[in-house]
Amino acid sequence: MFSTRFLCQHCQQPLKLRQSSGTVCSAQEEPGGTEADSGSSTEPEASGGPPAGAPSSPREPTDGRMMQPSAAHFTLVGRFPSKKTLGHIQKTHAHIFDVISDLEGVDRALCTECTDCLLEQLDRQLAQAQLDCQTYRRCLELGPQGSEAEGAALQSELWGLMLEEARLVRELGNLDRSHAKVAAHLTIAQAENAELTQQDAQHVRDLRALQWQQQELSDQLSSLGNQLSYAQLQTRALRATDIFKATFEISEDGPLGVINGFRLGRLPGVPVGWGEINAAWGQAALLLLALSKAVGLQFQRYRLVACGSRSYLKSLTGDGEELPLASEGRDNVFLDNKFDRAMLAFLDCLQQFQQEAGRSGLRVPYTVHAQGGLLGDGVGPTGPYSVRTHLNTEEQWTAALRRMLSNLKSCLAWASQRYCPK
Ligand SMILES: [Zn+2]
Repeated sequence: MFSTRFLCQHCQQPLKLRQSSGTVCSAQEEPGGTEADSGSSTEPEASGGPPAGAPSSPREPTDGRMMQPSAAHFTLVGRFPSKKTLGHIQKTHAHIFDVISDLEGVDRALCTECTDCLLEQLDRQLAQAQLDCQTYRRCLELGPQGSEAEGAALQSELWGLMLEEARLVRELGNLDRSHAKVAAHLTIAQAENAELTQQDAQHVRDLRALQWQQQELSDQLSSLGNQLSYAQLQTRALRATDIFKATFEISEDGPLGVINGFRLGRLPGVPVGWGEINAAWGQAALLLLALSKAVGLQFQRYRLVACGSRSYLKSLTGDGEELPLASEGRDNVFLDNKFDRAMLAFLDCLQQFQQEAGRSGLRVPYTVHAQGGLLGDGVGPTGPYSVRTHLNTEEQWTAALRRMLSNLKSCLAWASQRYCPK
């Protein structure tokens, strides 16, 4: 029985040495199991025949060459002399295995299966190497002819590619410069955009203010339009109004002349107050002043000032003496009292107006003698009456004033017809 074990260095299966032939073989070749310590493993096999599964003849590779037996396939270790002791046999087997493992070119002791696999791998590598060798050989044969034309073409293509690269580099530079310009323009445009946005906001605010102002002005315009319409209505109404007839009314109250409700004159039986007489004189002065303005007459020698019951005439010659067209009934009896002179001056102005308006068709019932202070013609009871109070009776004074108001009434009708619309 062997105590020394030999294992395949690839699959670790036990190996057994054929004693008859002195070779190492796989335990798988033995029928009846793989146990190295079993009884069957110790039985020597018949020498001369190949084991089952082992190649029966030398291997024939794919390239057709005969595979010669070599040390990598089987290792011949010699024959064992008969009648050796068991310990000597074991020592010899161990030594043989060591020798096999240390042989140059034989790395490990292998079983038959692993050896077959290894040989197949080596065959495939050899076939591939031969194909590569043939390919390289054809390339060496065809290389110089094909490479010259192809080299020229490749060189030309290389030059073309280099030119293309240079052109693309220049184009890239141009694009970079264009990009920088565009970026600068974009920055400027953004700044302008921001400024325009601010201006737009300011314009919107201004627009709101202007719209508000426009609304206010529109309201004012509407109000003014209403006022204008009202004023135009009033103007039309006033133009349709006879301002002289509406303002002045001259009538008679018996022997007394009346203007705007104020009696002008007094009688022994009709003691009219001097306040009323003065007011009547103020109305008469206002009427004469309005008539003179209507015809555009500027009085000579006197300026008529209508001031109600305190109206007066101011002399335009000399020292500019003011002659009050009013009295309190206590005037002196002398010839040159101012009331008489004022009434004479009034007659002077009335005469100037009658002369001016007479050219335009004015006719008055009584002749005015301004210098003598007389009104009317003829003699006797129908003769002229003086407007003086000096050396005159109240009846004649009142009659003279009544004639004067009659003349003013004719003047009023004439002016109303001439200057006021129908
Ligand atoms: Zn093996």
